Amino acid sequence: MDITSTLTLNNGVTIPRLGLGVFRSGASTKDAVLRALEVGYRHVDTAHIYRNEEGVGQALRESEVAREDVFVTTKLWNDDHGYDAALRAFDASVAALGVETIDLWLIHWPVPEKRLESWRAMERVLKEGRVRAIGVSNFMVHHLEELRANSEVVPAINQIEIHPFGQQAKVTAWCKEKGIAVQAYSPLTKAKRLDDPALGRVANAVGRTPAQVLIRWALQHDLIVLPKSADPGRIAENAAVFDFALDVPQMEELDGLEEGLHTAWDPTTEP
Ligand code: NDP
Repeated sequence: MDITSTLTLNNGVTIPRLGLGVFRSGASTKDAVLRALEVGYRHVDTAHIYRNEEGVGQALRESEVAREDVFVTTKLWNDDHGYDAALRAFDASVAALGVETIDLWLIHWPVPEKRLESWRAMERVLKEGRVRAIGVSNFMVHHLEELRANSEVVPAINQIEIHPFGQQAKVTAWCKEKGIAVQAYSPLTKAKRLDDPALGRVANAVGRTPAQVLIRWALQHDLIVLPKSADPGRIAENAAVFDFALDVPQMEELDGLEEGLHTAWDPTTEP
């Protein structure tokens, strides 16, 4: 496994295992993406609500890396649900990014009542070839079951919060069984658990930082992992995770940190 390693989605499209998250990267977004591309990332995760699709697009145009070599994800925001509204939102994201095709478009959150209609719009843009893969985010098993019973296309991805402190075992196992790839968002716990003593012990043992250990843990669990940083040094640090491995006892020690932590939001009670 190296920084160019990919996973093949259920529709044959390949996606790099490591992606740069840009939530709250703000005015630094363009520079963060340029830095990431320079150190070898080939995957960027943005969303309409992050208000930085333009910055991502600028970086794609300024970088020497070819557009087709970078996997770009964006997401449908909660206010844009419904068939026509979702189609309009897609056009707006395409325009903001300044790209012809989006690699992955996700439903950001399982908005009740409207999400099935939005999914039909997503199936349409997929059929039209304007997006290479469609998926969901923050979907729990009951949301996925509902979608399965009412749609044609199986989501390629479910993007959810995952780190050792909140592993979402049930939904992750469900997705695996159904061929839906899982992306780990907030893999660094938004920096809230980087000083955990057990994590620190593992980091010392492998001579790496806690952030690197968390990213490696996610990779070794076959997840696609999306650490965010807007700092040039930390962007490189978070990519330097392919020249060491966690052994079985270290993985087990980290697996033992489960505490049901959600640092972003918890979709389990969303109807
Ligand atoms: P992360 O878990 O990736 O943590 C980011 C925080 O950690 C920032 O404060 C960052 O600061 C800091 N950090 C980054 N690298 C290091 C390091 N090596 N050492 C110490 N601190 C570090 O949080 P996010 O919530 O941003 O999640 C990552 C991405 O996942 C998002 O950017 C977004 O793309 C996606 N996401 C999706 C959601 C969804 O609902 N679909 C919800 C939340 C996130 P600094 O920038 O200064 O380095």
